[in-house]
Amino acid sequence: MIQPAAPNITWDASPNFWPGRSGRQPLAIVMHIEAGTEAGTDAWFANVKSQVSAHFSIAKTGEIRQHVQETDSAWANGAVAGPDLSIPWLKEAVEAKVNPNFLTISIEHEGYPDQPMPAAQTAASLALTAYLCARHNIPADADHIIGHCKIDSVDRGNCPGPTFPFRDLIEKAAAILNPPAPAPAPDPAPAPAASSTPAPDHRTQVSLDGVTCTIDFGCKSVTWS
Ligand SMILES: [Zn+2]
Repeated sequence: MIQPAAPNITWDASPNFWPGRSGRQPLAIVMHIEAGTEAGTDAWFANVKSQVSAHFSIAKTGEIRQHVQETDSAWANGAVAGPDLSIPWLKEAVEAKVNPNFLTISIEHEGYPDQPMPAAQTAASLALTAYLCARHNIPADADHIIGHCKIDSVDRGNCPGPTFPFRDLIEKAAAILNPPAPAPAPDPAPAPAASSTPAPDHRTQVSLDGVTCTIDFGCKSVTWS
């Protein structure tokens, strides 16, 4: 898995979080839809009375804000109702009664569940997701990039809603993180094989009356010995 560069992120602190993760690591990224505006969500997260937050929110413009450090637990995914127990880590968490907030990174998206996201927002969501997957060693697949509805299908069944592009997002994040191996470079042209044929020997010897004569046809010399 390669580590993509961090997208531009504006810090916008929320007081609503637990410090730390109860000794655990984030295992999954949970997508939300704000069902409202970015300004309204930012104000809601900044208000201690709301008792809600997310690690990140993404405006329709593609601007990314971070409200809670990834090492801390945002208050986004705590209520579990009708969870999808086909997701192994979620099944384990439910059985062990571990609050999903300890195990997840949450991303809010400005807009409404039945409205497709603008291209700038989709691109920002992809860049942030790929960055977070690599940073926290989270696989880019449908068990680890999920909707809020997978944790609470009762009260949050429409979060982030039917138009959220999970398939496209997961495929593109996986392609960013695990690019296909480049085609191998062609082998360099083989060096000419060293000739195994010995250099022709032009010499020959003749004997004449006890005298040996070496005749070198190559240089046309004659040596008597
Ligand atoms: Zn939600």
